[in-house]
Amino acid sequence: MLDRLFSSNLSPMTQPDSLEQPISTLKGIGSQTAKRLEKLGVFLVRDLIFHLPYRYEDRTRVYPIGSLRAGQTVLICGKIEIVDIVTSGRGSLVCKISDGTGLLTMRFFNFTARQHKSLKTGTLVSCFGEIRYGYAGQEIIHPEYKVITSLDNCPTESNLTPVYPLTEGVRQATLRKAVQQALAIYYQSGDSTVDELPESVLQKMAYPSLTEALQTLHSPSSSISLQALENGSLPARKRLAFEEFLSHHLSLLKAKKANSQWHAPQFNANQKQIEQFLKSLPFTLTEAQQRVIKEVEQDCQSNTPMMRLIQGDVGSGKTVVCAYAALLALDSDYQVAIMAPTELLAEQHYRNFQTWFQSTEVELVLLTGQVKGKQREQILQSIAEGSSGIIIGTHALFQDAVNFSRLGLIIIDEQHRFGVNQRLALQKKGTQSGTKPHQLVMTATPIPRTLAMLSYSDLDISIIDRLPPGRKPVTTRAISAERRDEIIARIDNWNEQGYQSYWVCTLIEESEILQCEAAEATAIKLIQALPKIRIGLVHGRMKATEKEQVMSDFKKHKIDMLVATTVIEVGVDVPNAGLMIIENPERLGLSQLHQLRGRVGRGENDSYCLLVYQPPLSETARQRLSILRETTNGFVIADKDLELRGPGEMLGTRQTGQMQFKIADLVKDTELLEQVQFAAKIIEQETPEVIQPLIHRWLGKTTQYAEV
Ligand code: ADP
Ligand code: MG
Repeated sequence: MLDRLFSSNLSPMTQPDSLEQPISTLKGIGSQTAKRLEKLGVFLVRDLIFHLPYRYEDRTRVYPIGSLRAGQTVLICGKIEIVDIVTSGRGSLVCKISDGTGLLTMRFFNFTARQHKSLKTGTLVSCFGEIRYGYAGQEIIHPEYKVITSLDNCPTESNLTPVYPLTEGVRQATLRKAVQQALAIYYQSGDSTVDELPESVLQKMAYPSLTEALQTLHSPSSSISLQALENGSLPARKRLAFEEFLSHHLSLLKAKKANSQWHAPQFNANQKQIEQFLKSLPFTLTEAQQRVIKEVEQDCQSNTPMMRLIQGDVGSGKTVVCAYAALLALDSDYQVAIMAPTELLAEQHYRNFQTWFQSTEVELVLLTGQVKGKQREQILQSIAEGSSGIIIGTHALFQDAVNFSRLGLIIIDEQHRFGVNQRLALQKKGTQSGTKPHQLVMTATPIPRTLAMLSYSDLDISIIDRLPPGRKPVTTRAISAERRDEIIARIDNWNEQGYQSYWVCTLIEESEILQCEAAEATAIKLIQALPKIRIGLVHGRMKATEKEQVMSDFKKHKIDMLVATTVIEVGVDVPNAGLMIIENPERLGLSQLHQLRGRVGRGENDSYCLLVYQPPLSETARQRLSILRETTNGFVIADKDLELRGPGEMLGTRQTGQMQFKIADLVKDTELLEQVQFAAKIIEQETPEVIQPLIHRWLGKTTQYAEV
């Protein structure tokens, strides 16, 4: 009786090992090591099996000493011919070994007495390490070595040895052993008997099963080429990368499906209001704008939440489309939240919307981090009570203190600056018993279709593919910073014709403080070099009111030249400013440069963008800048950017830390994306039950995507 009680009490601990248990349950992993491994994203046993080696060592064969080349990392066997202690320099223990084909030196700095004792003339050793050329010929410094008994039967390993990414305080051997245990648990678990990828997909892609793939990657047989293993081209690794991409895609599709289960407020357009609004605009909408407006209108009139992305190049006129959507919400008595990535942009939207909505009764408020104290309280109250109709702001909008009364529409501008999760967090705010607000997301960064799959699959996409009429392409030139005098003369001349200009300072450092200091220093230099020109400065660390003052002075042409950090990248709109000088353009991504350049070319006159680079320019940098000179098409630029630089910039990972993959690499593995959609369709039709396990495996802890 007592026995049974006891054993049933114990049963949770005696359950078969599971992939879901924390790694601290493995032999050799104490709580401290477990804590350290968290830095690598390894929490559970499951995470360990997907913690892949980044390189391998080959101890499966013995190389003749006579055949070695510098740089090779190899196993050799030989007899110690000479032992010597060199006292010059740092001092070292030196053993020369021979296998009959040549001589090799093993060199140890910081050797122990025991080492010295074990390495005697005549001793047979196997040793492993990287071959270098010293003045004593070929040598291995601090090799791994073993004393052996016979040269004919030098001990080798049967598989290649994995080398795992480490974190401080964890040894390679510890991690290797832990991974071996994790794999053993995996092989015994149910997981190894099912494969989430359907047979047809595996066949089409010529992928091995998950179990085979893991086996190959963690302990590859000696017949597999090290090169293929290390450059990531093996089907085993491709399979995992594919699975990871697929899981991200599936999770977004799932979010989309979940979204469609919700209700949303149905907006009824008030034709009179709309006509009035359209009449008040100083231009007529382009066909592209009208088409997109129609798509938005249809979404808003249905009772499921809109999730729509508007993609349109800089200057294509997305803001007015948002205003139209806002009008629909307001007409039906709902609140509209508009979120912009920077204060400057939020402020500009605020001013634009004030103009567009001045003839209506609607109350607009601006909520940014700068709004404090009593004013903030009043604004929060007006949002909660519902007296404010249009709420414009930055990230501040999704703080806890912000509660909406009747949020019906969320507009997110320059979506690429926010992460997927941030986008979904705001939507939660408007969620009320079974109802979700509509959502409209805008981006000027055209990301290639294949990548859109990983970040926008939960959205419907509308494209504004034409710029408003009358825009002239910006003439772009790359010019060396050594020709500074010419540039200064150019600005003077430009200014005499009555035009304004931008001077954009860039800095590699992410630090905003340094960026602002650099901009200040540049402004001072320019004021000295250009005494006739009224120069203003904006950067991210100025107070909102100061920035607003400078921007409004620039708009009113009280300032001739605006010196700025890349804060002006998005949104700023001053048609008379047709010259932009960008310092050190080689430091920025092409898409970002394209965005910056989008600030000019808004007026009726010719406009110019001067890319002032620091010579000498690397070959890639030269290629990149020439792409900007050749095209003003954002899509072409985005594609090239992906090719030459990688996708980080485009997806906004740099700013937000989103879109992190465990195994897949957006640059190396882009070709896989083509097939992801196809596989997702097959899975949805044939084996929908694997969707959840896949999402769990690859997005595990981080998944908020699919939250309903
Ligand atoms: P973006 O798509 O980059 O956000 P904006 O909405 O800021 O572009 O529009 C850029 C400029 O074009 C603004 O000055 C805006 O008033 C103007 N604009 C928008 N639509 C039209 C149009 N149909 N015809 C002429 N100008 C337009
Ligand atoms: Mg815009």
